[in-house]
Amino acid sequence: MTQDAPGFLRIAIPAPLQRSFDYLPPAGVEIAELRSGTRVRVPFGRGQAVGVLLQCVTEAAVEAARLRRAIEILDDSPAVTEEILQLCLWSAGYYHHPIGEVVAAALPTLLRQGRSQRDSGVRHWSLTAAGHAIDIEQLRRSPRQAALLALLKRHEGGVDRARLDAHGDPWQAAMRTLIAKGWVVMEERSALLASASAFEHGPSLNADQQQAVDTLTGSLGEFQAFLLYGVTGSGKTEVYLRVIEQVLRQGKQALVLVPEIGLTPQLVERFRRRLQQPLVVLHSALSDRERLDAWLAARTGRAAVVIGTRSAVFTPLPEIGLIIVDEEHDLSYKQQDGLRYSARDLALIRARNAGIPVLLASATPSLESLYNAEQSRYRLLRLPERAGAALHPSMQLLDVRSRPMQDGLSELLLTRMRQHLDAGGQTLLFLNRRGFAPTLLCHDCGWIAQCRRCDARMTLHHAQQRLRCHHCGAERAIDSACPACDSADLRALGQGTERMEQALRQAFPEVGVVRIDRDSTRRKGEMQARLDSIHDGSNRILVGTQMLAKGHHFPDVTLVGVIDTDQGLFSADFRAGERMAQLVLQVAGRAGRADKPGEVLIQTHFPNHPLLQLLVQQDYYRFAAAALAERAEVGLPPFGCLALLRAEAPARDAPQQFLQQVAERAQAYRVRGVELLGPVAAPMERRQGRYRSQLLLQAAERADLHRLLAQLVPSLESLKQTRKVRWSLDVDPMDLM
Ligand code: ADP
Ligand code: ZN
Ligand code: ZN
Repeated sequence: MTQDAPGFLRIAIPAPLQRSFDYLPPAGVEIAELRSGTRVRVPFGRGQAVGVLLQCVTEAAVEAARLRRAIEILDDSPAVTEEILQLCLWSAGYYHHPIGEVVAAALPTLLRQGRSQRDSGVRHWSLTAAGHAIDIEQLRRSPRQAALLALLKRHEGGVDRARLDAHGDPWQAAMRTLIAKGWVVMEERSALLASASAFEHGPSLNADQQQAVDTLTGSLGEFQAFLLYGVTGSGKTEVYLRVIEQVLRQGKQALVLVPEIGLTPQLVERFRRRLQQPLVVLHSALSDRERLDAWLAARTGRAAVVIGTRSAVFTPLPEIGLIIVDEEHDLSYKQQDGLRYSARDLALIRARNAGIPVLLASATPSLESLYNAEQSRYRLLRLPERAGAALHPSMQLLDVRSRPMQDGLSELLLTRMRQHLDAGGQTLLFLNRRGFAPTLLCHDCGWIAQCRRCDARMTLHHAQQRLRCHHCGAERAIDSACPACDSADLRALGQGTERMEQALRQAFPEVGVVRIDRDSTRRKGEMQARLDSIHDGSNRILVGTQMLAKGHHFPDVTLVGVIDTDQGLFSADFRAGERMAQLVLQVAGRAGRADKPGEVLIQTHFPNHPLLQLLVQQDYYRFAAAALAERAEVGLPPFGCLALLRAEAPARDAPQQFLQQVAERAQAYRVRGVELLGPVAAPMERRQGRYRSQLLLQAAERADLHRLLAQLVPSLESLKQTRKVRWSLDVDPMDLM
């Protein structure tokens, strides 16, 4: 740019508007030195905003006289690297989402707020051995020091600044004194996990693993998508580790995406022991500061490996050499609000842009990915056998039609349980419904406890004696009498895990029962304690929800009982069958080991259902083929593509009217090849006190769908009805609720 050419900054600002904003550079700033991705503080409306420079332009979108001047440049080196900016621009286009919000979603909160890119190291204060020995009584005359010492004694692991600030009194001076006395140390804890001391050699690979590793390492340095399809326990993680070793040897970095619930301390430890290189972990439980530090370690290249959940796909890695998406079928990769991106799909885009391989892996791949493999867009790598000597469990349907049932358990299942327990095995029961019972019913008049804000029933939670709505979180005390007829005969209908646990305790009083679901593992450490009780055999019956389907292994479990699959067979959601199959196989795969091959029993009222039949043959591949054939017939993904426009409002008619206008407008664009379905009320019309409607757009060709959305979405800002509703667009929706 020449000296006298006027230069303007085109800036992405987090606002729900489909556009960027132009500014004059801050006074005294040389525009030629600014790089895209740099954060800039700007005046915005009546306040200020932290935006990101997209590019410098010579012509502004509005006349120069009306432009405002940016306030300050916040970065020396761009917070959004070129690679990530490219990914953001792609996402904004594909998801038809405002670029400013996309860029904001890609940044750690503190950077979004305008904080500096400085690595703090999170400061921690903790007692020294001498400090431990001090009797607080000695400090009677220094109450602040005494209070701090007491606080530190309560927190063995040390305290951070936030905790100290929350403690109330000014603490800095007293802390300095305690440090000077040698009773307290302050250390900076880095987000970077240094390589663990105990190095561990991996097992020697079997032939299938070796072939997968060879194929993968052979394609480092070029874009190629792989689908690693291997049953649980087939040694997929072992394959990741070998390939990552190779990547690190070349001086490159690896990004490993895992589902939220799969990111266990055990997994991280395994990576640390094996790789002997610094790594960082990114997940939702980190504080803002910890997240920024981990991000910086990746950004500066100090971290060789990043293991993270969904949003980690936006982590800048200057030397990225490989992306792995573990359990690629998992729903947690899809963001369900704001920018509704799929981290799995973005991983593919990122790998393509960077010219590196991407490995999607699962024991139960999504139908989309299997189809892509079939179409040769992905290379399929298979690990058909369990690693080591473990065998596949056997699987069988239990026809429960007209059979006596006891709290949802058939006698057949109870009998098999007893046999397995007598033989010294453990039993796992899978029921994907938490709480005591999904319905509270008046036996005299038929009244049912409903949520006051949703079109949904309240779930009965017995231990807390509460009714809870699992959709909006509302809760209230259990009615003592029917509000409609005053009868006291209220009955709990149906089974949840809490009731199942109770029933099992009665049926097997001599065997310990443990329940794992969101309610029973809320408190820190509870999950681990419950897992431990299974592993050490103090409890031998395990009942739980889909939390059991991920990340954990139960080697002593010889029998898995699946209580209820029938809902999955007849749901309105076209993916329900796929999900049911994935869950059942994932749970089944958690059980057994070499000397104790497992048995899986599935209770059903539909033993002849073709999908269930395929499922018990444990041929997920054939199951998938059948399910794909069904989708092909009706043009559902992956044979077509979908976008879902949702709208909601406190007033019943507003969402419907809004979407009606949208539909009319969409028709006016006359884009061929896109079918509009609706608007219709959402399957659960009222949720959290708001009425919801939806308009589904279906197209055989993705390009047609995007052509329409590109015109339609920006125009919605100006619709009269828009102000009366909250609306959102979901491209490639994972659920249609
Ligand atoms: P997955 O990720 O497919 O569930 P893992 O890689 O975790 O499988 O392997 C399952 C178990 O088998 C682990 O305990 C692992 O150490 C072991 N294992 C993996 N590969 C081999 C092998 N080639 N020989 C012996 N044991 C193996
Ligand atoms: Zn009643
Ligand atoms: Zn509710």
